[in-house]
Amino acid sequence: MTASPSRIIAIYPGSFDPITNGHLDLIARGSRLVDRLIVAVLQNSRKKPVFSVEERGEMLKEVVKPYSNVEVSLFNGLLVEYAAARGANLILRGIRAISDYEYELQMALMNRRLAPQIETMFLMASEEYSFVSSQLVKEIASLGGDVSGLVPAEIDRRLKLLVGARPSSK
Ligand code: ADP
Repeated sequence: MTASPSRIIAIYPGSFDPITNGHLDLIARGSRLVDRLIVAVLQNSRKKPVFSVEERGEMLKEVVKPYSNVEVSLFNGLLVEYAAARGANLILRGIRAISDYEYELQMALMNRRLAPQIETMFLMASEEYSFVSSQLVKEIASLGGDVSGLVPAEIDRRLKLLVGARPSSK
């Protein structure tokens, strides 16, 4: 069954390891443009995650509670296949800088080749989060740096717990 053109069901895929305020800003803005937004956590990522896919899903569910048309799911395999199975007609992605552009363009063109009926929509990162990435947040937090304001409070708490649990190198 294909969705009617007037109803936009979008998928926002990613690793979300962990979710940052940059992701959340994209979710908030994206949710206003579509009928339903499915935030989909990729399970078969080549990146070695700090948080398990279940933990990432849980954290996302907690922070997207205020958005009534947003749901969280976990997925494996080809994104376009998952999107089709969920009746989605749009893929949402974010672009922070030129460095994101090349990879995002390649993925969008490949996905279009695989599933021409699904469009990819890009939102530009908000200025205040355009330098925020999950990778950088993890690095700073692991060195004891302050990442409050860059991630939701619950994620900040979990990152601090991770650092506390790590044996000291001193
Ligand atoms: P992936 O492993 O698929 O790149 P990420 O969780 O790193 O997963 O990112 C998912 C999407 O969110 C990507 O399109 C990425 O460009 C976008 N994104 C990541 N951080 C931000 C941010 N601070 N502002 C806007 N978009 C972002």
